[in-house]
Amino acid sequence: MSKPDETSRLRPATQMVHGGTMRSGFGETSEALFLTQGFVYPTAEAAEARFKGEEPGYVYSRYANPTTRMFEERMMALEGAEDARATASGMAAISTALQCAVKAGDHVVAARALFGSCRYIIETVLGRAGVACTLVDGRDLDQWRAAVRPETKLFFLESPTNPTLELVDIRAVADIAHAAGAVLVVDNVFATPLQQKPLELGADVVVYSATKHIDGQGRCLGGVILSSKEWIEKNVQDFFRHTGPSLSPFNAWTLLKGLETLPLRVAQQTSNAARLADVFAASPKVASVIYPGRADHPQAELVKRQMSGGSTLLAIDLAGGKEAAFRFSNALQIVKISNNLGDAKSLITHPATTTHKSLTDEARAELGIGPGLLRLSVGIEDVEDLVEDIARALAAA
Ligand SMILES: *Cc1c(COP(=O)(O)O)cnc(C)c1O
Repeated sequence: MSKPDETSRLRPATQMVHGGTMRSGFGETSEALFLTQGFVYPTAEAAEARFKGEEPGYVYSRYANPTTRMFEERMMALEGAEDARATASGMAAISTALQCAVKAGDHVVAARALFGSCRYIIETVLGRAGVACTLVDGRDLDQWRAAVRPETKLFFLESPTNPTLELVDIRAVADIAHAAGAVLVVDNVFATPLQQKPLELGADVVVYSATKHIDGQGRCLGGVILSSKEWIEKNVQDFFRHTGPSLSPFNAWTLLKGLETLPLRVAQQTSNAARLADVFAASPKVASVIYPGRADHPQAELVKRQMSGGSTLLAIDLAGGKEAAFRFSNALQIVKISNNLGDAKSLITHPATTTHKSLTDEARAELGIGPGLLRLSVGIEDVEDLVEDIARALAAA
C-alpha cells in the first residue's frame, strides 16, 4: 500500500476527492475495497512482530482495516483532526466517545436539546455506570457555568439542534469546560464538517453520524470520532478494540465515495434550503420559520460567527397545528415523509409524533416542539420543483 495522499494544504473539495487515498500495487483509480476480516503474515516471526507493534501493518479488521483507514484519513483531512476511529453507526461513535471520556463518580453536563438516543446514553447508560449528569439549556451560558461540579469531566452538545435548529456557542462552552478541567464533545451532524469546525472553536472531540450527509444517499449507517492523537490513543483505542463498534469496510468504501460529492451536495442543499425558507416565510399558513441562514434567526449573530453556511435543514411551525402539519406532509409529492436527514432526497418529519414522541408534553414544550412543527431536510432536487411541491402542499394545509 502507498502512504495516504497528503492533502492538508488543499481546499475541502479537493481533500474530499483525494484525501487519505492509499493505493495497492495495482494502482487502482478508485479506492480499493478490502473486504477482509483478517490478514496473513509471511512468517511466524512477522506475525510476532506485528502483534508486538514492532512492525507496521494490519492485524484484524475489528482494530483497523485499510479501506476503513482511508475513510478515517479523509475525515481527518476535512476536520483538521490528528486521528479518528470510524464506527458502525453515529450512535456507536457517540456512545464510544462518551463512555471513553468518563468513569464512575464523574459528572457530565449536556445541553438538553439532544438527539433522543444521545439523551439515553447520557442519562441511562452513563447513569448505570455511576456517572451523574445535569442537563441545561444549551443557549444559556450561565446554566453551563452553574452546572459545573468538582467532579465534572465531560461537556456534550449538538449545534444546531434537532429539530428546532437552535445554536450553542461552542467557543464559549469550550472555555467553560476547559476552566472546569472537562473535555467538550460536539455532535456536528447538523452543521456538517463543511459549515462548522468544532475543533477550531475549541472542542476536544467531534462526533458524526456518517449516515446523514456523509453518505447522503440513503445507503448505509456509519459514524466517526475525531480528536487529537493523544486523546484517541489514551482514551478510545483499547475500548474500541475490545468492544468492537468498528465500521464495516464495505460501508467505509461507500462513505468514501459519499465524501467525494459531499461539498457539491451540501452547497446545493443549502442553497435550496435558503430559497425554501423564504417561500415558507411568505406564507400566512406558516407561523414561524427557523432557518440559521435567515437574518431573522434568533441567534443570527452567533450563526455568522460560528457557521460558514446556513444549514441544509429548516423547521417550520404551521399555524394550524397537527392537522395542518399532517395535511401539508400528505400533500407533498416530491418531498418524502421520513425521519432521516442529510439525504439527496428532500425529507420531512413531524417530530412530535415520531422522533420526539417518547418525550413528555412538558419536555417537548421546553424544547419548542409544538404540534405544528415540521423539520425539513432539503435535498439536491431542482429547487423550482421543490417550490412548486411546497406551494401545492401549503394550499392543501
Ligand atoms: C442520526 C443522528 C445520530 C445517530 O446516528 P446513527 O447513524 O443513526 O446512529 C446522532 N446525532 C444526530 C444529531 C443525528 O442526527
